[in-house]
Amino acid sequence: MQQGEVPTVIIIGAGLGGLSLYHSLAKNKDKKEFNVKIFERESTPQDRWQGFHIGISNYGIKSLMRCIPSSVASNLPKAMPDPVPGEYHSISITDHTGKVLMKPLIKQVKDYHGITNTHNGFILTYRDVLRNVLCEDAPVQWGKKCTGYEETEEGVQVHFEDGSQEFCDILVGADGVHSPVRKQKVPDLKIFDYGVTFINADVAVPKHLMDRLLKIHDNCLCQKTLGLNGDTTFVAFRLIPLENFKDTSEPHYRTSIAFTYPTKFDDEPDSIKVDDNNPALVVEHAKFMIQKLRPKCDYTDLMLELWELVPKSPSLGQEDYLFKTYNTIQRRNMQDINPLSVNSWKTSRVTLIGDAAHAMCPVMGLGANNAIQDADRLSQALLNYSSENYISCIKEYESQMLKQRSSDVLKTRSMALRQSSPVGGYFDILIRNTIIKMINFTLNFYYYVNTFIFRN
Ligand SMILES: Cc1cc2nc3c(=O)[nH]c(=O)nc-3n(C[C@H](O)[C@H](O)[C@H](O)COP(=O)(O)OP(=O)(O)OC[C@H]3O[C@@H](n4cnc5c(N)ncnc54)[C@H](O)[C@@H]3O)c2cc1C
Repeated sequence: MQQGEVPTVIIIGAGLGGLSLYHSLAKNKDKKEFNVKIFERESTPQDRWQGFHIGISNYGIKSLMRCIPSSVASNLPKAMPDPVPGEYHSISITDHTGKVLMKPLIKQVKDYHGITNTHNGFILTYRDVLRNVLCEDAPVQWGKKCTGYEETEEGVQVHFEDGSQEFCDILVGADGVHSPVRKQKVPDLKIFDYGVTFINADVAVPKHLMDRLLKIHDNCLCQKTLGLNGDTTFVAFRLIPLENFKDTSEPHYRTSIAFTYPTKFDDEPDSIKVDDNNPALVVEHAKFMIQKLRPKCDYTDLMLELWELVPKSPSLGQEDYLFKTYNTIQRRNMQDINPLSVNSWKTSRVTLIGDAAHAMCPVMGLGANNAIQDADRLSQALLNYSSENYISCIKEYESQMLKQRSSDVLKTRSMALRQSSPVGGYFDILIRNTIIKMINFTLNFYYYVNTFIFRN
């Protein structure tokens, strides 16, 4: 780069991390100007279903607000509507019959701004809408799949599948769990497989069914159950009825559902081979596994009713569900990437943010928050950029990112592996339930101390 020339930053991937980084670099251009380009492999913003609810917590909101301009922030309520009566933004964990083991008390707030004043609060957010909001005013170049790059002393030449190339001073891989940028930069970094299968889907739940769930889980919007065979169920929703829903006999709510189980159960003789491209068969498989691993009880029946609501084909979903359901149901292996599991991580003009560097399983709800915080931190570090010190800027970002995210990945992994361990007999179950209840007691004790003594 010539002296005085504006440096170019290329971002690969227009997900939550890449888009937050774009906005932050553009927002701070008075302090440090970059020519920022963002490339996405999908051909349009609607190419791939971005569904499911995600919890955005206090540090995620703080970072997001620092990254985006006010024009984009004014649209955030579309993705994070204000809490409505009857909603309790927290998680409730029960046993397989619906007996509550854990329900952390969380300060409830009027809107997403309020989350920044809570220490453990979050707001349940529509992930697809958040992505749409972040796409506004971002000049994403769609249909540009990155295939690799060449790095020299002078800069980075980026290659795309359509044969085109772009040159930049800094390349940021924000290209998710299967990041081609990561595979080239840190080829030894391997994806860790949990041996756990994760099936998730979006459904429209009628009010009468929702009322049953709310009663068991005391109005909590995130609901988890722990089975006896290392299996878990998860349900998340907002109590905001879908507008213009086809069935007008009662309100329906957009709901994310998930079921996890140790993959070894797929190898048992009674198991049938699943065609993951056939949603109807994946739904049948999920129901089969629930019936196999869960004792017969009212809660099991409730879960089966929920899975029965999954659209059996993508076209059906789009017509009936008003929110798009391109992949009505997905089945995959639970995986993560520990960024410190390699001996060396060489800082260069090419760096990574979000899932590309440290994908983690969704059990603690950290992934999106971390991707947005990475974007915020990297853009802050780049404010000091010059052609002589770019390495130290990126090093400053990477040292903190590697240490903190490695610890997040390992904590999340340990929790997920514990939840996927079968509990044997009566005493095992008693010990597990007692430990969870004690953790709940401790969390709620701190909540009371914080709220009523320190008035936080
Ligand atoms: C079921 C589920 C629930 C979750 N719940 C939560 C939650 O409650 N809270 C939370 O914080 N997180 C949650 N997460 C995780 C969160 O969604 C992700 O961690 C987050 O979206 C990561 O953002 P990202 O920008 O790094 O990657 P992504 O959002 O995956 O974006 C990567 C982008 O890069 C593009 N791309 C990929 N390859 C290329 C290429 N070669 N060329 C160009 N573009 C490319 C992709 O198309 C994509 O648009 C959940 C995840 C799942 C699956």
